[in-house]
Amino acid sequence: MSDYHDFDHFGLDPRIVAAVKSMGYSVPTPIQSKAIPIVMLGRDVMGAAQTGTGKTAGFALPIIHRLLPQASASMSPARHPVRALMLAPTRELAEQVAENVKMYIAGTPLRCATVYGGVDMDPQTQALRSGVEIIVATPGRLLDHLGSKNTSLSQVQVVVLDEADRMLDMGFLPDISRILNQLPKQRQSLMFSATFSEEIKKLAANFLRDPLLLEVAQRNATAENVQQELFRVHESEKTGALLELLRSRELKQVLVFVNTKIGCRRLARELQKQGINADAIHGDKSQDERTKALEGFKQGTIDVLVATDVAARGLDIVELPAVINYDVPYAPEDYVHRIGRTGRAGASGLAMTIATGSEDRAVAGIERLIKRTIEVKSTEVPRPPRGGDRRDRGRDRGHDRESGRDREAGRDRARPAPPPADDFFSKPYEPAREEADAAPAGRSEPSSAPGKKSLKVAALLGGSKR
Ligand code: AMP
Repeated sequence: MSDYHDFDHFGLDPRIVAAVKSMGYSVPTPIQSKAIPIVMLGRDVMGAAQTGTGKTAGFALPIIHRLLPQASASMSPARHPVRALMLAPTRELAEQVAENVKMYIAGTPLRCATVYGGVDMDPQTQALRSGVEIIVATPGRLLDHLGSKNTSLSQVQVVVLDEADRMLDMGFLPDISRILNQLPKQRQSLMFSATFSEEIKKLAANFLRDPLLLEVAQRNATAENVQQELFRVHESEKTGALLELLRSRELKQVLVFVNTKIGCRRLARELQKQGINADAIHGDKSQDERTKALEGFKQGTIDVLVATDVAARGLDIVELPAVINYDVPYAPEDYVHRIGRTGRAGASGLAMTIATGSEDRAVAGIERLIKRTIEVKSTEVPRPPRGGDRRDRGRDRGHDRESGRDREAGRDRARPAPPPADDFFSKPYEPAREEADAAPAGRSEPSSAPGKKSLKVAALLGGSKR
C-alpha cells in the first residue's frame, strides 16, 4: 500500500481537498493514507484505529467523495435521501464526527444531520424531514426516529460503525441489529474498533463482506508520542498529588479522569475551592451542561475538565497536552482510550496516572495490555490534614470496590472523598435534576450494559425479535 504525502493525490473531489486544507490538514495520517483509497473503491473495511489517529476523515472523506456525483442542489427533501449512515456509541462522539463531516461537506450540496438522545427530538425531526444524505447517530435515538417515520434508510449505500467495541460494551447490539436490518443488503460497510474481542470479530464476520483489515497501530498499543508516568501515593494524598502536578507542571487544558460520577463532581468542586478553573462532565449532566463545559475547556476558560469515561468518550480537543488519571480505570482498555485523548494526530502528549496501593492490580492489568511498564515518578505531595487519613486506609486495602459500569450508571455508593474540606463532602450524593429529564439519553449510555452483552451476535443475520 502506497503512502500519500498530501491530500491532492487521492483523487478526491477538489471541494473535499479544499475543505481539509482550510481545516489545516496538510499531511494525511497513516490511517487516512491507507483507508481513503480503499474506501473510495467501495470495499468493506475493518479498521483497527485508535482514537486520535484521524480515522474520522479516513472514512468520511472517501464516503463524501462517493456521494458527490449524486448530490443535488434542489431544495426538495426527496432529492436528499439518506445515503450514508454513521453510528457512534455516544452523543459526544456523534457530535464530533458530525462536526467534522459538516466541515468536509461545506462546499458541496450534501447535507448532514446529527441524531442522539438526551435532547429534544423536534429539531432533529425537522432536519431529517428536510432531507439529508448523511446521518450521524447514536443507535437508540435513530430507532426512535425510524419508528416515527422521520427518515428512511432504504437508500443507504454505506454504513459506518465507529468505536464498535464501545457500542457492544454499552449493550447496543440489539439496536444495531435492528438498524442494520433496515439497510439495503447491497451496501458498503465499515467498522472501526480500538480493541478486538471475540465478540467484535463475530460482529465483523456477520456485518462485513470480504473486508480489508487496516491496522495503523499495534492492537491495544498506546500512542508512541504519549509520555506515560505513574505516581504512587496513599489514598489520602491523591488530591494533593493532583494539585501538585497541576501546579508544578503549570498544566492547562488538562483532562482528569475519575471512575465515578460522584467522584467527578466532588473532585471538580475541590479543585474549584483551590482556585483552579475546573468543571465536571459526567452522565448526570444535561447535554447543554456538557456542551458548555466542553466549550469552556476548548476556549481556555476552563483549565481542568474532570470526566468519567463514558462522558469523555469521543471528546475532540485537538492537541490536548495532558491527561491525568486521578483514578486508575478498572478496565485496562479504558486506559488506552483515556490517554488517546492526548498526543492526537501526531502531537506529543503527557499521560499521568495517580495510583494507590489498592489500584496495583489495575495498574498491572494495564501494563500487561500495553506491553510496557509505566515509568514511576515521584511528586512532592503536601501532607494531608490529620483525620482524613485513617478512614482512607481501609480503602487502600481494596474495600469499596464496584464495577466501573455500575458506578457510571449512577449506582455509586457515596465514596468518601479525599481530605474532607467542607460539609459538601459529608452530604449524601444527590443526582442532578437533569437525570430524569435526560432519560432518553439512557439509550446512549445504558445502565444494563453487562447483562445485555450476552446477546448473540448472530442476531444480526436474522434480525432481533424485539
Ligand atoms: P479523529 O481520530 O478522527 O478523532 O481525529 C483526531 C483529530 O485530528 C481531529 O481533531 C481531526 O480534526 C484532526 N485531524 C484528522 N486528520 C488530520 C490531519 N491529516 N492533519 C491534522 N489534523 C488532523
